[in-house]
Parts: sequence; structure tokens; C-alpha cells
Amino acid sequence: MPLSGKSETEVTATGERLGIMGGTFDPIHNGHLFVAEEARARFSLDGILFVPNGAPPHKSDYLLTAARHRYEMTRIATADNSAFTCLSLELDRPGPSYTVETLTLLQAQHPAAELFYITGVDAIADILTWRRHEEIIRMVTFIAATRPGFSPESLAERLPPSYLQRILMLGTTAIGISSTEIRERIRLGLPARYLTPDGVRDYIEKNHLYENAAIPIGSTQFPETTS
Ligand code: ATP
Ligand code: MG
Repeated sequence: MPLSGKSETEVTATGERLGIMGGTFDPIHNGHLFVAEEARARFSLDGILFVPNGAPPHKSDYLLTAARHRYEMTRIATADNSAFTCLSLELDRPGPSYTVETLTLLQAQHPAAELFYITGVDAIADILTWRRHEEIIRMVTFIAATRPGFSPESLAERLPPSYLQRILMLGTTAIGISSTEIRERIRLGLPARYLTPDGVRDYIEKNHLYENAAIPIGSTQFPETTS
């Protein structure tokens, strides 16, 4: 899918620098948006593709909100930034989504682009558990953003030097917002204003998302939020 305002041929011809931000985005929040915008500015990226995960293999401890809701919230949150695009490609594929498959697809769609995968330090620390991580580390340069509670130094203890070489650190204002906290605040009736864009908050309210406690995987109950 071409970036907004640009044709596919332009993307290919210019050898664009493309940032990719994957996540469950359940819901997307200002931490995600700030990190993406900061990475764009700091590393001169031409655009950022937000890719809400379908059924991420590593997140199976609670039942995710329906993919169409997570996609819609991500679309709403990214709409006012012309450098941001929200893609549904993981949601269009059945079954679990693996980052390596998504990157293969994006590489095919943007053959001349240099790809940068943006994560928080917490996420990149787990890369050795990702499927076919040896290929992923060759396909993209990682941009790892500061996140409160996760020390960048710990990466050196967890990852081999060949991986560390492929990671650019984005040391920036650390934003202590998480989707987990937003889900919990909404469930408790506490404000989430200023933690996520107003449009996302309105969407959550309208669709009654996160009003009940997260349902652990394996439960026979089905939450109202995943209709
Ligand atoms: P949850 O609490 O459900 O795990 P989350 O806030 O961690 O949600 P994810 O969708 O899991 O959000 O994260 C997607 C990506 O964004 C990951 O790479 C994660 O490290 C990064 N990220 C999320 N929140 C922040 C933040 N506040 N600062 C820096 N990176 C973040
Ligand atoms: Mg997370």
C-alpha cells in the first residue's frame, strides 16, 4: 500500500526510509504516537507504517480486543499525521501473525525502501523468542525507544553483539503510558484523557471497550468487547 499522498512508483524510485511500528494497540496510546514521531524526526524517516497485530503469538495471556476495533482505533489515532499510515495486512491474514511474514510482504511492496522496525526497549529485549529472528535482524534496522522500567543497558546482557549492531537506540523523553494501564483505568472508571487521542477515547466509549476485566485465555466466558 503506498504511503498517503504518494504513488507506489514514487516510493520505489526514491529508496524511501520506512519505519514500521507493530503492536497489539489494544488500545493505541500517546506513547506509541510519540515514539513513532520521534523516530521519524530523529532518523529522517519518510513515513511510518502502523501494523496492528492480528493474533500475536507472544500475547496469549489475555483475550485481545477484536482486531477490527484495534485497527479502527489505530486508524483514528494516525489520521492527522500525513507521515503515518495504518495497515490492515496482518488482520487480513488468518491465523497467528508473525513479524517475519509481515516484513517479507512489506519488502516485496517496497523493494527499494530501507526498513526500520520501531519498538520499545521491552519488546526488542525479547527478539530471540521471535520466529525466524535471524532473518528479521537482516531485513530491518531496529529503532529501540526508551521505556520506563526497562534499562537499555540490559539489552547488552540479553542479545549477541551481531544483534546489538543492528539496533539504533532512541534515547528520548520516556513516556510511562501502557495499553494495560489504559484498559485498567477504563475498567475502574478513571480518566484516560490525554493518555490517548480524543478520537480513540470516543471510540472506546461508544463501543464499550474495556469496561469488563480482561478474560484470561482458556476461559469459557466471552467478553462483550470482542463481538
Ligand atoms: P500492553 O500493555 O498491552 O503490552 P503496550 O503499551 O506495551 O501494551 P504494545 O501494543 O504492546 O503496547 O506495544 C507496541 C510497541 O510499542 C512495542 O514495541 C512497545 O515496546 C512499544 N511501546 C508501547 N508503549 C510504549 C511507551 N510508552 N514507550 C516506548 N515504547 C512503547
Ligand atoms: Mg506491550
